[in-house]
Amino acid sequence: MSGVNLEGGDAAIRAPTRDVLDSLRGQLRGALCYPGEPGYDQARTIWNAMIDRHPAAVVRAAGAADVMRTVNVAREHGLLLSIRGGGHNIAGSAVCEGGLMLDLSPMKSVRIDPSTRTARVEPGVTLAEFDREAQAFGLATPLGINSTTGVAGLTLGGGFGWISRKLGLTVDNLLSADVVLAKGAMVHASPEENEDLFWAIRGGGGNFGVVTSFEFRLHPVGPEVLAGLVVHPFANARQLLQGYRRAVASAPDDLTCWVVMRKAPPLPFLPPEVHGKEVVVLAMCWAGDPAKGQGATAPLRALGKPIADVVGPTPFAGWQQAFDPLLTPGRRNYWKSHDFVDLGDAAIDLLVASVGRLPSPECEIFIGHLGGAVNRVPAASTAYPHRDVNFVMNVHTRWGDASQDQACIGWTRELFDRMAPHATGGVYVNFMPEDEAQRVSRGAYGPNYERLSKLKARYDPDNLFRQNQNIAPAR
Ligand SMILES: Cc1cc2nc3c(=O)[nH]c(=O)nc-3n(C[C@H](O)[C@H](O)[C@H](O)COP(=O)(O)OP(=O)(O)OC[C@H]3O[C@@H](n4cnc5c(N)ncnc54)[C@H](O)[C@@H]3O)c2cc1C
Repeated sequence: MSGVNLEGGDAAIRAPTRDVLDSLRGQLRGALCYPGEPGYDQARTIWNAMIDRHPAAVVRAAGAADVMRTVNVAREHGLLLSIRGGGHNIAGSAVCEGGLMLDLSPMKSVRIDPSTRTARVEPGVTLAEFDREAQAFGLATPLGINSTTGVAGLTLGGGFGWISRKLGLTVDNLLSADVVLAKGAMVHASPEENEDLFWAIRGGGGNFGVVTSFEFRLHPVGPEVLAGLVVHPFANARQLLQGYRRAVASAPDDLTCWVVMRKAPPLPFLPPEVHGKEVVVLAMCWAGDPAKGQGATAPLRALGKPIADVVGPTPFAGWQQAFDPLLTPGRRNYWKSHDFVDLGDAAIDLLVASVGRLPSPECEIFIGHLGGAVNRVPAASTAYPHRDVNFVMNVHTRWGDASQDQACIGWTRELFDRMAPHATGGVYVNFMPEDEAQRVSRGAYGPNYERLSKLKARYDPDNLFRQNQNIAPAR
């Protein structure tokens, strides 16, 4: 085995030697980049600027053959390996320090088949790129709310957004996948082939192999939906959140409404005196019959006395990008997340109190709205287990200057701890920061962890794919 031992001991992490990497470089259709070479910094720079790691080299894969070669070399030489799709994961697992980084972002093909309403998507595709191709045919599958996110990582963790209550999670719409296993072989995973693996990759993250192609079911959506923001003054936050809770309790599946609490950005439709003041935003999307949208959104839009209501017919692909300007890459980010079945008064009071003490103007608390079709799938049907959850709190703490790290992270942890008694104890794996390894078994996977751990032992017994929210192989 050729490598430089970074840690010592039996579970040693090995850094690749130059001869191993040069040999790999000669076998690739894509590129292998060393530090300082074009493409290296582009690949290792990810959405969360807190992550600044330097792999020994980056493979910028052109196709499945490059993936198989890279996986084989990493396994044969005991190298630390990380996998990058869209580079959005808050924990920064796409980039390893001193090891080999496999960057899939050059793999950009999307093929839509309108006759079967299916899509084949490579793992470097972003949500915006997928929507653009699918919406050309008036089709979509449920994805997330920030269009620069990668389809690959989002799907492997579960995936939800504006049309999930209507159409399920992203994984509920995954029909099959091509997966390169730790032993280097590529297999097809579907309900008919390698069904255990297909179960595991629908929520189990990158623990089981490298997906080189996803096949999704598509649905007619849009091209216009009724969507937009209703912005409220923060003074009425408590009553408003209680009203929100009442209104969404009977909302049809076609209606999704997320809550965002933050300091108001300088949006053109907000009066200047509101800019920089705390606001509560109801962000809603009606994806059903356009004729019924005004009636369906009325209970939410009748709440309180909003500063602005800019809900109206809007292109679906555009609405999928509505939050992009607030979620730009390159800022320091620390997230904490809890799942909820219900938002009780005590939880609402804690949220309101915390928003009064936001540590930076870019911090926000998102309450994602689930239920509907997502919750009609049994928890054991996919590795993603949280089928009773109606609300997901995601604390997006964002700032620019490292001197604010302690204050921002401290505020987030305090809010998280205070909310814990009101939450389910579960967490969406894709919202977990890098310091939450202890939450993977019970929090992220709960009743499905034991099966996942056994499958990990079958498909990746030596834990080659460990640069992730790691599922330990059963012993
Ligand atoms: C601003 C923002 C908004 C978000 N909004 C939503 C949302 O609305 N809904 C939602 O569900 N999620 C959302 N997320 C979370 C998102 O789903 C995760 O961050 C996800 O991991 C991003 O995928 P990626 O490919 O961009 O990430 P990467 O950082 O590239 O990958 C994350 C990890 O996934 C694994 N991985 C990636 N590609 C592959 C592959 N092809 N094969 C095997 N393993 C792979 C690897 O372990 C990798 O380290 C959001 C994230 C951000 C930063």
